[in-house]
Amino acid sequence: MNRTLAAALLAAGLCACADLPESASPAAGIVRSPFAPLDPGSYEQVSLHFKVFAYGGDNARAVSSQAEGFYTTIMTDTNLFSFMPSGLYEIVVYASHEEYVRKTGQPDWSGGVAYGNCICSYNGPQLLQTIAHEMTHLIFIEYMGRPRRDLLWLNEGLAVYEQAKAASGGRAPADLFAGVRPRLRSQPLTMDEILGFVPLGERAGADQKVALWYAECASLVQFMLERGGRIGFSQLLPALRDGKGFDEAIRSAYIGVWGDLAGLYRAWQAAL
Ligand SMILES: [Zn+2]
Repeated sequence: MNRTLAAALLAAGLCACADLPESASPAAGIVRSPFAPLDPGSYEQVSLHFKVFAYGGDNARAVSSQAEGFYTTIMTDTNLFSFMPSGLYEIVVYASHEEYVRKTGQPDWSGGVAYGNCICSYNGPQLLQTIAHEMTHLIFIEYMGRPRRDLLWLNEGLAVYEQAKAASGGRAPADLFAGVRPRLRSQPLTMDEILGFVPLGERAGADQKVALWYAECASLVQFMLERGGRIGFSQLLPALRDGKGFDEAIRSAYIGVWGDLAGLYRAWQAAL
């Protein structure tokens, strides 16, 4: 398995947002974190899209600045500048893994969790990647109006892509899939497997199929963004939001490029 990818996923922890109830999704309006807050004396940094809670003013300002940078990158990649979130997204940065696990009740391997409009994580090497990954989910779900199981692969693929970008300083993650490319070439999951697989409750990296699923989703999204163009992607998202199926949405968004989902899958395989 690709060590870079596995390390990236493990470092950020597997997101725990896919199985949230609809009432705890950012599409339900402003939903605050249900978890215990930081201890007294923490800082609060408000910016255009975020309210960051962290220990130490410099820390809070640094996280806030990074988060705004990720937000801009996601908007640029998806061309969704017309999208306006219903409120500020909250980011809670616990001091340590110990405080994070104790106050959120998340499993020991978790690097962060999104709940409602809030992302919770902790000071550590996973922090920025976690924020980029979970922020993608919050924006995607709020844009779609509700959590969409049928779009899970697209949501996760985009989140891993943005996470990888955050890990590489904002550059397109050209080598992210180098290690897993032979497996993607020789034994990829079929599109039906991609659509039907729900990696709930699994730890990324602990299961080869989970890791392959994440890698393939992200590779497909990277291909769509970088080969199909960001304008096409920005037309695909509203088509899916408005209830079109994947085949019709792809046909209308990528006119003359891909005729349906199977066509996209074939083109992606040929380009690997
Ligand atoms: Zn995720």
